[in-house]
Amino acid sequence: MQSANFDDNFKPKDKVVLIDSKKRIFLITLEIGGKFHSHGGVVDHDLIIGQKEGLNVSTPMGYKLICFHPTLEDIILKMPRGAQVIYPKDIGKILMAADIRPDITVVESGVGSGALSMALLRLNVKLTGYEIREDFLKIALANVESNLGKRNNYILKHRDIYEGIDEAGLDRIILDLPEPQRAVSHAKNALKCGGILLCYLPTINQVSILTEVLRNFGFDYIETTETFERTWNVTTKSVRPDHRMTAHTGFIVKARNT
Ligand code: SAH
Repeated sequence: MQSANFDDNFKPKDKVVLIDSKKRIFLITLEIGGKFHSHGGVVDHDLIIGQKEGLNVSTPMGYKLICFHPTLEDIILKMPRGAQVIYPKDIGKILMAADIRPDITVVESGVGSGALSMALLRLNVKLTGYEIREDFLKIALANVESNLGKRNNYILKHRDIYEGIDEAGLDRIILDLPEPQRAVSHAKNALKCGGILLCYLPTINQVSILTEVLRNFGFDYIETTETFERTWNVTTKSVRPDHRMTAHTGFIVKARNT
């Protein structure tokens, strides 16, 4: 993996998250002589290069920031996007629901910005991505390579998955696109018996249509879930949920091939 180890000192080309006292997060890529411009002034990258994470820096105006190697969540929320990414709270659920583990074969579609791809690749699956838009494929590949390095377990296809799936004997298929029911017959043939098809959908109408089709094609153990994440404000005087939360992202439909 190209991304830094936690005990490595920061070096040129490393990504770094800078966090201020209000928990605002900035993601930068270090360059010798580079500068991070913020509303509170400028930080020279050279102040960070060669130092360990946890370093405190401040601008000449006194704006303070703390520096860390980014987590995958930091990267996903800040990286360049073509299509909307799957949010980290849902990626966490998907990895568990689809029982993702090293060396299994997975087809993913659409690839979008590559957020889910990165989470799957970090678990060393053998991943093939189908994406209908060539411009999104380029963004996804750039995101994967700049954060995880070049991967030989990642194949990208400029393909419409509604037209078919080339692979056979797959362990998992994960679909994040508007009409997954149009890929169900292909998934049925491409998945091994017991394999998992997992779909991520924003509306319950889509879930309803998909579930009907899954039943018709003999999929079993069909489950729909949604995941809520509520952040809290914790200070000495007050402990309460934050006033705002992301109320809805998507539903996850999981089904097993029989
Ligand atoms: N899961 C991705 C986001 C996918 S957004 C991530 O985490 O970053 C949905 C993507 O599906 C878009 O990029 C869209 O172009 C693609 N798409 C839509 N219909 C498709 C189809 N029939 N075949 C392949 N890709 C498709």
